[in-house]
Amino acid sequence: MPRIAIVDREKCNPTSCGNYLCMRVCPVNRKGENCIYKNEGKAGIDEGLCIGCGICVNKCPFEAIDIINLPEELENPIHQYGRNGFHLYNLPTPIFGKVVGILGRNGIGKSTALKILSGLLKPNLGDWKENKEASYDDLIEYFKGTESQLFFEKLKQKKINIAYKPQQVDLIPKAEKGTVKQLLEKVDEKGQLEAIAKKLDIENILENDIKKISGGELQRVAIAATVLKKANLYIFDEPSSYLDIKQRIKISRFIRSLADKDTAILLVEHDLIVLDYLTDLIHIMYGKEDAYGIVSTVKATRTAINSYLEGFLREENIRFRDHTIKFGSGPPLKSTSQNIITGWKEIEKKLGNFKLKAPEGNICRKDVIGILGENGIGKTSFIKMLAGEIEPDKGNISEGIKVSYKPQYLKSESDELVATVLKQAIDKYSKTIINPLNIKPLITKQLNQLSGGELQRVSIALCLSKEADLYLLDEPSAYLDVEQRLVISKIIKELMEDKGKTALIVDHDLLFIDYLSQKLLVFDGQPAVKGEAKGPFIMEKGMNVFLEDLNMTFRRDPESNRPRANKEESVKDREQKAEEKYYYV
Ligand code: SF4
Ligand code: SF4
Repeated sequence: MPRIAIVDREKCNPTSCGNYLCMRVCPVNRKGENCIYKNEGKAGIDEGLCIGCGICVNKCPFEAIDIINLPEELENPIHQYGRNGFHLYNLPTPIFGKVVGILGRNGIGKSTALKILSGLLKPNLGDWKENKEASYDDLIEYFKGTESQLFFEKLKQKKINIAYKPQQVDLIPKAEKGTVKQLLEKVDEKGQLEAIAKKLDIENILENDIKKISGGELQRVAIAATVLKKANLYIFDEPSSYLDIKQRIKISRFIRSLADKDTAILLVEHDLIVLDYLTDLIHIMYGKEDAYGIVSTVKATRTAINSYLEGFLREENIRFRDHTIKFGSGPPLKSTSQNIITGWKEIEKKLGNFKLKAPEGNICRKDVIGILGENGIGKTSFIKMLAGEIEPDKGNISEGIKVSYKPQYLKSESDELVATVLKQAIDKYSKTIINPLNIKPLITKQLNQLSGGELQRVSIALCLSKEADLYLLDEPSAYLDVEQRLVISKIIKELMEDKGKTALIVDHDLLFIDYLSQKLLVFDGQPAVKGEAKGPFIMEKGMNVFLEDLNMTFRRDPESNRPRANKEESVKDREQKAEEKYYYV
């Protein structure tokens, strides 16, 4: 049976474990062979000698070792990050005329796969010792008889030009300077700057400094910069982050429109509603976080998402999760709490040219309230008023309550250790917050060494572990994968119930909000001009208010119960609108 041994070099600490404890307990070493050996100050494992007993995995006090038995049919990886490093098996296949999605956990190799396809990373076909860089001929041979063989043949013949939008758009302002227009002019190979800017609603910010635009604007600028390049394979790594739902749907339609017989689209996306709406086909990626990732065969979108939720790939006969992710078929149970912790009446507030109104509403203890609304419509300003950080111009808010706030944009410049920042959480909430968020592997890292998803998990843990009456989390789903989003939903729900506290969650992932909330506060108006807070409503009413404004309806998938966006003007869309049932049918 093929076997891989992973040693996390950051966690391995031979001086603190009692001088290479693993070497002393390994039965192969005890017989005199060098299965585990000293490798540049850390442990190294010879996969050829390892018998897979798992003793070292259990004995290592720092959880630095992973030994994984792989399915027989897996041969050489397409890429391996060094000795005892991450292994990637297979690659997704771009298909001309189609939008192909990739769905899988973080740390499973999605970005590595995209980097290989886009030419940013030369794969080594598992031959890390010689620092091999596979040639096109090697890759054609490796993928012989598959769609990928054709792809690499075309790549070799220079028939494929690739444009790639990276995941972390917030890094762009650190690397670029000047206005949005100057940045886009540099990459405008098609001469379509104005037309694309109009389609992506960024015409009004073309003269703005790239360092001063919001996350949602940056995302659309990054998408514009990608599609302005002359390419026939466009790759998008998480195109929906920072966008509100209206923008997500608009971007989805735009990206779909790029696929034609000469153009292929490949993308990674964690918002299941967007992924479902946007793609024709999906590859599921499964394996073990930071250890190995396998790309499945390509499947029709609906089947792929349902298989993913089920945790089972029928064609491959592989169960990659021991439980199914389930959705309820109707609105969640109504909140029973009547214990009001704060409320407001006839609030008005002017912020520059922006006007915010909130007619009347109350928030009760133990409520988990989802907040939906476009970007720039006053959601955060409203919360700051509830927290007493800013005063309304008119109207009343009951006395200020103590708020713990996780902002939308997370700062990571600090070199403080995660263990220091989360000391209180580690002491008090190990079981309820730290373990489910899988923070332990991060505690010896500095904040400025964390990836987007890791920083998000740390920030959520920090916010939830503070003492407060009201917990406000602004976009907690950004950079998290589908499973992490659902884990967070569970943590928040349970904590609010146990602590008798209240949470307000601003997010644009409708499925996440549906999974998590008992009530909805809906903001509508005109971004940067005016906004009005409506509710909190029970879920059914709130979804109807929100989606009527968006002019969109959703249905439930009969197999998984997950919500799916209806195509505009489809029979279901017309029927549901006539009955004013926009979400729960
Ligand atoms: Fe010690 Fe664990 Fe490193 Fe082995 S892997 S040397 S047991 S810290
Ligand atoms: Fe040695 Fe067993 Fe660990 Fe393999 S799994 S390295 S045989 S202790």
